[in-house]
Amino acid sequence: MTPSTAPTKTSPTGFGRKTSTRPVLIVEDQRALSEMLSSMLQHKWGCETLVAGSLAEANALLKTHGTQIFAAVCDVNLPDAPYGEVIDLVGKYRIPAIALTGTISNEIRHMMAQGHIVDYVLKKGVLSYDYVVQWVGRLHRNSATRVLVADDSPSSVQVIKGMLSLQGLQVEVAQNGQEALSVLRTHPDIKLVLVDYNMPLVDGFEFVMEARRMLGKERLAIIGISGENRADISAQFLKHGANDFISKPYSFEEMTCRVNQNLEMLELMESLHSLANRDYLTGLYNRRHFFEQGTVLYQQAHKNKTPIVVAMTDIDLFKAINDTHGHAYGDQVLRHVSECLLQHFPQALIARLGGEEFAVLSVGEPLESVRSALERFRIQLPGQKTIAAPKGVAMSISIGVCDQLLGDLAGMLNRADQHLYSAKQNGRNRMEG
Ligand code: GH3
Ligand code: MG
Ligand code: MG
Repeated sequence: MTPSTAPTKTSPTGFGRKTSTRPVLIVEDQRALSEMLSSMLQHKWGCETLVAGSLAEANALLKTHGTQIFAAVCDVNLPDAPYGEVIDLVGKYRIPAIALTGTISNEIRHMMAQGHIVDYVLKKGVLSYDYVVQWVGRLHRNSATRVLVADDSPSSVQVIKGMLSLQGLQVEVAQNGQEALSVLRTHPDIKLVLVDYNMPLVDGFEFVMEARRMLGKERLAIIGISGENRADISAQFLKHGANDFISKPYSFEEMTCRVNQNLEMLELMESLHSLANRDYLTGLYNRRHFFEQGTVLYQQAHKNKTPIVVAMTDIDLFKAINDTHGHAYGDQVLRHVSECLLQHFPQALIARLGGEEFAVLSVGEPLESVRSALERFRIQLPGQKTIAAPKGVAMSISIGVCDQLLGDLAGMLNRADQHLYSAKQNGRNRMEG
């Protein structure tokens, strides 16, 4: 069963807000510009910045903080370093660098092609600085993102791997489609695969077909790659289930854009999925997801004759808590109860059905052991310490339980609700059913 782990809090776009405690280095001689970038980075990601106005200042900062710096945003035209020398300097510390430039020159293109910079940004006002800010967030998320490169040419693998590593991604490699499938099985957290068409044992098309049987487009992005001069390859890749296609030879710039776009699409889908299935306040699953996943679990339990228990829990006299301590305090209590539920029932499907009502669905555990766990939860709840526990919280909860199949999940939930109602009638702070 999918445990009900609450997701980490995300920004409205679904991306982590707090990037890193490690600072971002800004090297820029125009003070107004470096100040603006610095405040944009702090505002968007809460990250610390170190600001240098020249190559000499950057050098001094790198000597003291070089190993901690997470990324660098560097003007390639500084008074004491007019030819992008700062990029070489930052490169010595293996810090991913984003270049700021007044014009797109051959030099800047060369830096990108050689993998010396992650990307370059034309200094053209707020929109371009916003692009830099997005890049810093991307680099941070990349550090927790695993990708796979499958290609039978060791030199191709090395080139792509170098480029992806420069962007902070964790890179796995495979020499053919068969090995790639096995890497995908060992690392189910892989988010993106770059796969060559022509490979021994299992080719790119067969890989995509098999990979899609395991993971849908909402979980895994696949970019097909081929150097063959055949017009049908890109369409065939897409028809087999790839998201995108790049033909060899490709530029670093194009590859970077496509990789980012595919990762962003996945994140967008993740955040939409979370918006549709999670409760905003507590991060628990919502009623909709509870019924969707719960119905599947109900049917499995029915078929396999495994025990299934549904419990309805409701905070007692919650309205009084709100009235006495305020709505914000009430919200904290709701988060506290959610965390305690997750701690007590790590294997169960847990949802906030609405207001101060939570449902717990347990499959495979005998009724008596679920009942004991629910009793423990009820008794320990008021004194339990979690990060969300409001000071001096005085509360109790009532629980209604049902372990009979009764035709469907709604029937079980209804029965649990009736038991909850009688628990309330019989004095609250008790479990019935
Ligand atoms: P009982 O023991 O019979 O369950 O009494 P109760 O006061 O808990 O139940 P009642 O249904 O009368 O009140 C529920 C309260 O929960 C009323 C509503 O304002 C409050 N509530 C619902 N959703 C939220 C929320 O998201 N945050 C906060 N702070 N309060 C909420
Ligand atoms: Mg209540
Ligand atoms: Mg209620």
